[in-house]
Amino acid sequence: MNNDKHIYTIFGASGDLTRRKLIPALYSLYVQNLLPDKFIILGAARSPLSNEDFRNIMKESILNSNEIHDKSSAEEFLKHLYYIGLQYDNPNDYIQLKEYLEKLRSKFDIPGNTIFYLSTPPSLYKVIPVHLAAVGLNETDDGWKRLIIEKPFGFDLQSAIELKDLLLKDWKEEQIYRIDHYLGKETVQNVLVTRFSNGIFEPLWNRNYIHHIEVTAAENIGIENRGGYYDSIGALRDMIQNHLLQVVGLISMEPPSSLEPLSIRNEILKVFQSLRPLRREEVAKYAVRGQYISSVINNETVKGYREEKNIKPDSKTETFAAIKFYIDNWRWGGVPFYIRTGKRLPTRVTEVVIHFKPTPHFLFTRKNIQEACNKLILRIQPDEGMLLEIGIKTPGAGFEVQNIDLDFRYSELAHQRIPGAYERLLHDTIRGDNTLFARTGEVIEAWKFLTPILEEWSNNPNVPLYGYPAGTWGPKEADNLFDDENQTWHFPCRNLTNSNL
Ligand code: NAP
Repeated sequence: MNNDKHIYTIFGASGDLTRRKLIPALYSLYVQNLLPDKFIILGAARSPLSNEDFRNIMKESILNSNEIHDKSSAEEFLKHLYYIGLQYDNPNDYIQLKEYLEKLRSKFDIPGNTIFYLSTPPSLYKVIPVHLAAVGLNETDDGWKRLIIEKPFGFDLQSAIELKDLLLKDWKEEQIYRIDHYLGKETVQNVLVTRFSNGIFEPLWNRNYIHHIEVTAAENIGIENRGGYYDSIGALRDMIQNHLLQVVGLISMEPPSSLEPLSIRNEILKVFQSLRPLRREEVAKYAVRGQYISSVINNETVKGYREEKNIKPDSKTETFAAIKFYIDNWRWGGVPFYIRTGKRLPTRVTEVVIHFKPTPHFLFTRKNIQEACNKLILRIQPDEGMLLEIGIKTPGAGFEVQNIDLDFRYSELAHQRIPGAYERLLHDTIRGDNTLFARTGEVIEAWKFLTPILEEWSNNPNVPLYGYPAGTWGPKEADNLFDDENQTWHFPCRNLTNSNL
């Protein structure tokens, strides 16, 4: 895999994602000399912009980004940016696009290597790839062609299958990169390294020693300006179908035979094939949904979800979802997994908590059962790091046990910059490494697992949608997912010291 000369074409280039994430990420690669000596970034969208307009918009975005930047390298980088106006559904515009790409190639001596990044509304995932293929822009005789699509990958099982069939008609699986920016996070990739580079963890990483596993992705913000989009999607589709299940895949996969993309992806696919779908009658009990309602946070009244802009006043879209489920395979048989995500929760945090089983016979005194169980916490964001909770003797008379934290924070590696998720993933698209991208099979399996929940939520009026006050940890019914009354969700704030929480 290497950095071939190429043209990076971005559809929807007038949009938010291109401005805020894609161009700053490509610029960051540029200043680190991670782009080839010859490359072009071609923006494509309906908005009537000149090359100069496009460059000016992107210049502002680069100079305002938090990443390291300087004016002169930004100016040099911007010379590589071009723009073409087109209508996404007009076949003639794709002929013009092809001609323009050829003109740029011959001018800058670049072979046919081309990336097509669809940074557009998902409805266009069914339109743009078909038109590209119709003019031969999927063909690889003059260089590689790669198609990148953003989540959501379908709306449900049926639409995911339709999208898959449509894409695979003209594009090969290895040409398609389904981007899930969670997988670009250093700390998500660290799950693999933690598991497979430390001899002490892997022997314990199974049903014999692990009691249960939690994954939480909490946001303290509401839906911001994404009302129209979010109301048709909800928390399950927005976060669980992709980000959280991908994290579950990395935590629970078997050791791959190598770091080859196919080797890793095969193991993740096997996990997804082993997810036990909930039966319809189990959904109300094991898949809790909620919606935030107005409340007062820090003396300020916060709107409820149904009062937000572009939200229907009787919306039943969930802003919180928590599921208890099992992975039916030899490693995980009988180990419950608990995943939850929500908006307007008390803090922004994503973490995995591995709860180990207690010792067979506890000799010492303890405040509660939790004090007898080790936990490994992998903190994905913010304050990225790892924390191992172990029991020690409380100083003084007797043998009381208390838990302490062996704590590592990535910020302690002060001399090392953590690259942004898009930076890593965009670099991988250029290098042709699709390890960190979702494959068709995984997407379909994830939808199969979630479909009974989605159908039951939408078809059965008796399945409750619980209200929870903004700023709380979701409906209290989510606590009832745990069979044992001594168990509850791990409370992330307790271990976080970051002042921005
Ligand atoms: P966006 O700003 O809403 O749209 C991108 C561009 O698509 C717009 O500038 C517009 O360009 C075109 N467009 C918008 N609505 C359209 C419509 N109805 N028909 C045809 N063209 C339309 O989207 P974005 O925030 O950049 O996100 C792009 C994709 O990435 C989406 O699929 C989104 O779900 C996904 N995503 C975004 C983020 C983020 O942080 N923004 C994060 C994760 C995933 P023209 O009018 O100029 O053609």
